[in-house]
Amino acid sequence: MPIRSLLLLCLTATLSLPASAKIRVFVCEPEWGALVTELAGDSVDLDVATSALQDVHQIEAKPSLIAKLRRADLLVCSGGGLEAGWLPQLIRQAGNAKVASGNGAFMAVAQVNTLERPSQLDRAAGDLHPEGNPHIQMDPHRVLQVATALTTRLQQVDAANAAVYTQRLADFSSRWSAAILRWQDRAAPLRGRNIVVHHKSWVYLEEWLGLKEIGALEAKPGVPPTSAHLSGLVATTQSSDTLVIVRAAYQDAKASRWLSERTAVPAVSLPLTVGGDERATDLFGLFDSTIDLLLGAIK
Ligand SMILES: [Zn+2]
Repeated sequence: MPIRSLLLLCLTATLSLPASAKIRVFVCEPEWGALVTELAGDSVDLDVATSALQDVHQIEAKPSLIAKLRRADLLVCSGGGLEAGWLPQLIRQAGNAKVASGNGAFMAVAQVNTLERPSQLDRAAGDLHPEGNPHIQMDPHRVLQVATALTTRLQQVDAANAAVYTQRLADFSSRWSAAILRWQDRAAPLRGRNIVVHHKSWVYLEEWLGLKEIGALEAKPGVPPTSAHLSGLVATTQSSDTLVIVRAAYQDAKASRWLSERTAVPAVSLPLTVGGDERATDLFGLFDSTIDLLLGAIK
């Protein structure tokens, strides 16, 4: 090969390397961290602020989180008020204008229709969210809507990798859509079954699978139950052919076990997000595990 062609080859190889460093993505919850991994792979550097064993309503704005957000190019959170107790403070202390608003701040809840939008705001009713219930991750259709919007955002923030994001979204969408059909098929016996929940984290899962929530240990979201509420809940749970009492992996088992002992209805811990149990290592495992755990309660 002539020297000139060789040189040209070397030059082309050099130019095809990424021109700039990877963008840094700071994510509030593990489910969106897993989604960024699906959509971006190793095209980005990822920091995930919380784990499945933490209550994301209440996180401490630690210096380590502030430092990570300070160097981020893109912030990805649920939004919808879920992180109202800590994210505004984190953003303020990080002093990073890129992620404070605009293209650098992506909120998943803003990409979908929410359930439980309050007709009027009443602080006494607990940690109410004006934008509706923000726990959207347990509906795979909404996850796909978020994936599509997030891909557009990644392309805006990281235009150099736009083609990579297009290709990865197509790949994720086809695997995800096939999985949705598989999950719906498998979960058919759950349709119409009654469940009791600890916190109202499951409304999207219920809507998707046709589960019916007949009660919650927290009478008002985020507020500990009164004894009058609990005795009413024991009666409802007992008389409703209840399938299961559901709590999230991060929640103390005490309350749901208490109800289970009094009603002989099994209590089960569901992952709620990636990392919530040993099978929920990614978004696919999260749904595989959740559906199998619920099916396991059917006698
Ligand atoms: Zn909540």
